[in-house]
Amino acid sequence: TSRAATGTRTTETHCPYCSLQCGITMTAGDRPATLVPADFPTNRGGLCSKGWSAAELLDHPERLTRPLVRARPGDRTSPLVETTWDAALDAVAAAVTRTQLRYGPHAVGCFGGGGLTNEQAYQLGKFARVALRTSAIDYNGRFCMSSAATASIRAFGLDRGMPFPLSDLAAADVLVLVGSNPADTMPPAVQHLDAGRERGALHVVVDPRRTATARGADLHLQPLPGTDLALANGLLHIALADGLVDEAYVAARTTGFEEVRAAVARYWPDRVERITGVPVVDQRRTVHALARAGRAIVLTARGAEQHRHGTDTAQAWINLALALGLPGREGSGWGTVTGQGNGQGGREHGQKADQLPGYRKLADPAARAHVAGVWGVDPDELPGPGVSAFELLDALGTEGGVRTLLVLASNIAVSAPDARRVASRLGDLDCLVVSDFFLSETAELADVVLPSAMWAEEDGTMTNLEGRVLRRRHALDPPPGVRDDLQMLAELAGRLGRGAFFSDDAETVFAELGRASAGGAADYSGITYDRIDAEQGVFWPCPATPDGAPAHPGTPRLFTEAFATPDGRARFLPVEHVDAHEPTDADHPLVLTTGRVLAQYQSGTQTRRSRSLQLIAGSPRAELHPDLARRLGIRPDDVVELATRRGRARFHATVTDTIRPDVVFAPFHWGGGSSANALTDPALDPLSRMPAFKLCAVSVTRVGGP
Ligand code: SF4
Repeated sequence: TSRAATGTRTTETHCPYCSLQCGITMTAGDRPATLVPADFPTNRGGLCSKGWSAAELLDHPERLTRPLVRARPGDRTSPLVETTWDAALDAVAAAVTRTQLRYGPHAVGCFGGGGLTNEQAYQLGKFARVALRTSAIDYNGRFCMSSAATASIRAFGLDRGMPFPLSDLAAADVLVLVGSNPADTMPPAVQHLDAGRERGALHVVVDPRRTATARGADLHLQPLPGTDLALANGLLHIALADGLVDEAYVAARTTGFEEVRAAVARYWPDRVERITGVPVVDQRRTVHALARAGRAIVLTARGAEQHRHGTDTAQAWINLALALGLPGREGSGWGTVTGQGNGQGGREHGQKADQLPGYRKLADPAARAHVAGVWGVDPDELPGPGVSAFELLDALGTEGGVRTLLVLASNIAVSAPDARRVASRLGDLDCLVVSDFFLSETAELADVVLPSAMWAEEDGTMTNLEGRVLRRRHALDPPPGVRDDLQMLAELAGRLGRGAFFSDDAETVFAELGRASAGGAADYSGITYDRIDAEQGVFWPCPATPDGAPAHPGTPRLFTEAFATPDGRARFLPVEHVDAHEPTDADHPLVLTTGRVLAQYQSGTQTRRSRSLQLIAGSPRAELHPDLARRLGIRPDDVVELATRRGRARFHATVTDTIRPDVVFAPFHWGGGSSANALTDPALDPLSRMPAFKLCAVSVTRVGGP
């Protein structure tokens, strides 16, 4: 029952949580494993409380160490009981075969996650198309990065969250953070911001809450949620009126500016103040500072992007950055702050409904031919594009929908919008299979639960928020009875008669991923594990070079010469503010926005089980302004019920003047009676299919004392 422990050894690897991918040094062998921060370029010796606590969970008593199946197969009211891997995988293969014989190949689906390694994400996409031959696959990054990714591809022809290295943040003279709160979400990143501040850089934060990041900034713009697009258009209006546009850059490197010029003409500063609540004087100060700076960066994140018009909102900030001549210059540009640990790599290798590895389009015949060649299958065998995450989940168990679902690294019963509706759909499945480390709220609903290896127990690569491909290194063996998802998928493929197509060795899978991505936008073909080890990561694109030629150095900074569009120019696109899709009314008079707290991560499957993190952020708390609290008779720590058109959830009240009086904030890391996503609206952005997590109408009622 003991793990392989051949003395103590140290391993350089990375934190399992967010996209900063802080470097850590693990010591393992003599249990329990411990970790300390490493001096890696992203964190330079820093870690946040989540990273410090990460080793705690490896030996957590609730860790799943045996596959589980229902005591009475098919009856989810019967308890989950332990079984063998052979029996569990046989049950999954039988369910897949039964469903596909009855309903066709697309009735079996896969749902992945941005926490999977590149190799696992690639393998899952290939498993769906080659072993299951289904179009039904998408992943939780659809709920996270899809708006910014769509906007980036539309404007620049390529999506890499930050098209420049993190170190550029310190080089910028002006930094505008829109809906981004790194002081709470990724504190070690703040040292890059502080380095700029020490040089005299001006920092502006755009956020409806006066977050820790906003408190540290020179200027805080506090717009009503859902009005960031109007603010960006308004800043561009001022730039045009005040002669701040970089006309030479616009003429040389962009197309489409005249349409945008016309579109922003109506965004007069006083109108923008009425829409957003941001004073004209602050609008002027921001855009003049941006235009005067030698180097300036605009970063957007989920606060601006998780909206019904998230793609257009990101585009509005890209339009502003282009008009000021920022993208493609050192220490300048527009970027988005990716959230999940492998949120970047997770969206490049084929987990998305419409994509093949290397960011290739599944609908593109040349892309299909290339990838099918690497996979050794006929291109005509590959299914076409499927539907996006929420659409896939909302059709579970229905005519034409998925009947058997395999979920990896995702707790959709907590993280999906309108989460109780999604949980109910999961109940309609013929078979739900969940691979996870713990019995998450989604795993609790499953027919088969497969215990998967945790970060320190597996090999692979992750791609961080800068596009730097990193090594996740094996530091210790998993508990007996636990398997890596690569191994699980290979064994399941074998049971479906496609085992010859799948390796369970991470480095072998990475080499194949490189070949599949060769020539695509996210080209990894020149990256090897040895190079990552030697160079502290390699930035993509990094194409392979012919034998004897020097290796490609990787690409820390994109767009310096040309954008990735057919004509090499970035595309301006006119975008318009639209009023909130779910207006407030007498029954729901306030605006709800959701987000993160420092000591929790995503759906909380891991961090809610960490004793040290529970001491910091153990209970879900909603934030209300003192004026609102007084009006509703709510005192600090009272229990309040938030109600929207979808459901109700309870939180303890934090009364704080850091939030607008017309807005309520709730964190989304909890399920059950405190599920913020029981409240959220699944209205989808028409372009990216991003749900509107950041904005819906809500009422607040006091239901009890502290
Ligand atoms: Fe670093 Fe993010 Fe991990 Fe915190 S959660 S230690 S910021 S990688």
